[in-house]
Amino acid sequence: MNAIAAEPPAPALTTLPADDVRQVMWRFADRYELHLLIQAARGVARGPVARLVAAGGRNSHEWTPEKNSLLQHYDDSGITAAFLDPEQGGFIAGPKNMALALIAFELAWVDAGAATGSLAGNLGLAPIHERGTPEQRAKYVAGAAPLKPGETRRQVRAAFALTEPIPFVGVETGMLAGKVRVAEWNDGIEPRLQVEKRGRFITNMGFANVVTAAVDSDDPRLKGSCMVILEEGDPGVWDRGTPTKKLVHQLSSTNDPIFNLTVPASRIVGGYTVQDGVIIPNYSHSEIIEAVFRRTRVTVGLMTSAKLLSAVEPVILYQRRRFRGGEGAPGSPRYELGIQQKEDALHRLVDVWATGEASASLGFAAARLFDELDPLEKEKDRIMAEKNLTGRAAYKELSKKQADALELVKIKSLPVGEQDLQRSDELEADPLVKFALLDSLANVFCPACKLWNTGHGANMMREAVSLMGGYGVTEECPGFLGQKWMDAQLEATYEGPEAVQRLQLSLTMTSDLFLAQFTQWILEMRRLAAERSGTGACTLASAMRLWLWTIHHVQTTTDADGARLYHKSRQGVTFPLADALCWLLAARQFVLDVVELETKGEAIPALAEGLFGTVSFFNDLGHVQCARAAGEVGRICAEIVHGYNRHPAWDESSCHACFCAEELTMLEGLIPGIDGSARAYSDVTEAGEEHPFKAGPCVRFAGLEDFVHLRAKLDGCLTGCRLAKDRAAEALTKVMIREALDYPV
Ligand SMILES: Cc1cc2nc3c(=O)[nH]c(=O)nc-3n(C[C@H](O)[C@H](O)[C@H](O)COP(=O)(O)OP(=O)(O)OC[C@H]3O[C@@H](n4cnc5c(N)ncnc54)[C@H](O)[C@@H]3O)c2cc1C
Repeated sequence: MNAIAAEPPAPALTTLPADDVRQVMWRFADRYELHLLIQAARGVARGPVARLVAAGGRNSHEWTPEKNSLLQHYDDSGITAAFLDPEQGGFIAGPKNMALALIAFELAWVDAGAATGSLAGNLGLAPIHERGTPEQRAKYVAGAAPLKPGETRRQVRAAFALTEPIPFVGVETGMLAGKVRVAEWNDGIEPRLQVEKRGRFITNMGFANVVTAAVDSDDPRLKGSCMVILEEGDPGVWDRGTPTKKLVHQLSSTNDPIFNLTVPASRIVGGYTVQDGVIIPNYSHSEIIEAVFRRTRVTVGLMTSAKLLSAVEPVILYQRRRFRGGEGAPGSPRYELGIQQKEDALHRLVDVWATGEASASLGFAAARLFDELDPLEKEKDRIMAEKNLTGRAAYKELSKKQADALELVKIKSLPVGEQDLQRSDELEADPLVKFALLDSLANVFCPACKLWNTGHGANMMREAVSLMGGYGVTEECPGFLGQKWMDAQLEATYEGPEAVQRLQLSLTMTSDLFLAQFTQWILEMRRLAAERSGTGACTLASAMRLWLWTIHHVQTTTDADGARLYHKSRQGVTFPLADALCWLLAARQFVLDVVELETKGEAIPALAEGLFGTVSFFNDLGHVQCARAAGEVGRICAEIVHGYNRHPAWDESSCHACFCAEELTMLEGLIPGIDGSARAYSDVTEAGEEHPFKAGPCVRFAGLEDFVHLRAKLDGCLTGCRLAKDRAAEALTKVMIREALDYPV
């Protein structure tokens, strides 16, 4: 047997990762305006927000003066204005996805209801921001800017009203009960509209003075659906409704409002044209909500990441102090380590931390992606408008660009010497090709981070709560972990619950363009694994390969009854494969972020001292996460690949291997004289020859040999992952933490 040398001890993690580490990992080290914004948002989160939670502010459903006072803090700290362009009173030029993601992360570190309260104002304005006319933007988006000294205007506080009382809009956003009719339309004068809308669970409704509402036409003189801007003070009914009796996010306001208002047609978001006496809105409500949610869902995903990462310090504090007192004296393991003497408690915290890292990495990658995509999307719209392309013609042009983008990915996948550089330069210079590339990724990253960060994140918050014992489910729990657990479930629900994200992924993750890039990533992970062993990249590459094989398989195969496997209505196939992809994307992004920290961190003097310790700890954490992701992917893929085949009849003997002589011998070794009558076949035929099935492979695997091989390889790639977990666990016993959290409990 070959002796394997023990690894030299890795440099240790000295402190919990600070801002300078995060700035490098999440790629905003050179954006000083974001550093300042984080400090400002953190001041609000760990100051007034934390004090309000600690004082029991979450114990009422009403919108109280104390909760209302948070709005002023959001205004004063720059949180409100961060959504606005400089000409609207903001201070960040260009895309703001990353900025808003960081604010949400900071606020949710303490309380996600506060984060939601601040973001829901942006959500209310988002339809106007994304698709509004210049006049609408100037009035409403700029109107949300905090008042300057001496200003007396009414500051816009917005809400977004899509969801309706049951049985209308929820997951199914097309079932609109809200109606719009032409109330008055005289020659030469702008039409006036009658808007009837009832909302369910509308955030900010306790105080909002502007609402963007989704409605459908109930009038032949108005075509289709649209979103309409409603203002408090419009003639008619503006009833805020009763507060929702929420168990979660109580620092935000949620009501079921009723509106019946008359408004000018200029309130249709994005404007309208009149054709043959019919008002035609420029955008349907679904076009608008698609543009809005694909950005805002990323920030929601990051709220749950913040919760998981915020749990690390309180849990370590609790664990270490748990056994102080009694016989233990300072300096003894019992006194110093407390529950951290127990391996399971450490391993579970490693899992919580690894999930938090992977989900934050995925969420911030998605936010950066949208920052890159936003200007390209505007350029795409400009080019389309210039060429006068709309509807089908625009779709055809974009499909052409997707084919070009695919060609570019294929060229880039060739060895450098074989690449057609002239063609690749030409394709790279085309903004529509770049748009197509990034768009195909954004269509996957957004639902993936909303789905995995919040859904799996909620499960892992339960783990974090369990590590605090009884305290976990009390209001006194340090870090408010019990409340955060429950809050995470709302993040998994609003702005479209998990089913919505899985549905979207099942469509977007099979695009040729996405799959081509995904294939490149497998090679990228293999290269990384060769350069950096022990990062989990090898495990991940094998899991990615297995997923890719499975995706191709289910798209070209039928089940035992001949029915298509990959089909919109077959959620038993499409949804788990969407989940599996999320595990892969999150782990990959974490691995990439650690590589970024290692390669860029050295140049940052402030990081130099503890860098190697942090990187080596993160490598172990990444390895743990990659192994966990590989396990999930292996399980899901195996269930789907094998699970839709019918088990051959026993007398076809394909299952000879299931209970063979060797197995009986092994079991008899454990329990002598065990009853072997369940054994299906003897190892010899009646003629006394060796049974033919004994030698050959199981017939169930016919056609699936590649899968079986990949699955076995994947298991082998788990080598070392538990050693990585042991090292990470040990690091948790040594890392320095503060004596107390920096916010009240
Ligand atoms: C505190 C809070 C704040 C909110 N804020 C707002 C807001 O500001 N504005 C707003 O418009 N809305 C808001 N919402 C509403 C929220 O977005 C909806 O609750 C959510 O989209 C789900 O709709 P629903 O509750 O009607 O669930 P349903 O549509 O009844 O779905 C229930 C469940 O059924 C299953 N399901 C449904 N459809 C499918 C399908 N096609 N495939 C598979 N499974 C399916 C899923 O498991 C789903 O979770 C808020 C909700 C809450 C609780």
